[in-house]
Amino acid sequence: MRLYLDNFLKLLIILWLVFFLFLIYEIFDYIKFNYYLKSLKNKPCKCKKYFENSGYYYKIPNELKEILEFKIKRFLNEKKFIPKYMEINEEIKCLTAFYACIPTIAYKNFCYPSLKYIYIYPHTIIKKHINQNGIIKKEMLISGESIGESVIIAWDEAKRDIFHYQKRNVIIHEFAHELDFEEGIVDGIPVFALNDYEHFKKIFNEAFEKAIKDRIIDNYAYTNKAEFFAVTTEYFFLKPKTLKIHYHELYKEYVKIFKFDPLKEKL
Ligand SMILES: [Zn+2]
Repeated sequence: MRLYLDNFLKLLIILWLVFFLFLIYEIFDYIKFNYYLKSLKNKPCKCKKYFENSGYYYKIPNELKEILEFKIKRFLNEKKFIPKYMEINEEIKCLTAFYACIPTIAYKNFCYPSLKYIYIYPHTIIKKHINQNGIIKKEMLISGESIGESVIIAWDEAKRDIFHYQKRNVIIHEFAHELDFEEGIVDGIPVFALNDYEHFKKIFNEAFEKAIKDRIIDNYAYTNKAEFFAVTTEYFFLKPKTLKIHYHELYKEYVKIFKFDPLKEKL
């Protein structure tokens, strides 16, 4: 009996020791992470000169500009840019980070946790669908793609969207898909809607059904629910009036989940 108790005590001490070490590790990790965020905050944002040319930056309220700059510094520090068949410079990285962070502007500490790589191509990419026998079934031209840990951007398309300030923006589009991906299933429901999932899903599905009949916004929105979310997110940030007029309830939900009202901010 005595031996049994001794062994039990030893096991208890070892378990406490493991728990204690784990706790120390977690605390150390937390301090390290906070120190990293603080050091980033004090670093100047080298990207500002590039946003100013995009025409969008000055319409963002001052208090959010500061958060946005911090988020961009973090994005550039944590995500790896991979150029494909081209050279990429600071301007390309800064503008990509800028538009990637726009949909998450109100979430200071959100930095696309699943995302690791951003592939930049010079032109639209030919995507081949190959069947089981290795035969090309279909070829599609794409300007971007989002597959969880990586995002692909065709720079000629992104540049046109940025400098001509149209209703579409391939960077916002692909990063809206990332928000959808972060929620777990690619179904048009973004991670920011998880707190009120059922309600958001109901309004979103109703808007999608209405959109299929109306055919008011860009045709690509009707491909499926994931594309509807990505395209309407572009409208929300770039053409908010159009979205609000035609899909008022959805607009209200987007204000809630993005914690931002582009019309109030006069974007
Ligand atoms: Zn898409």
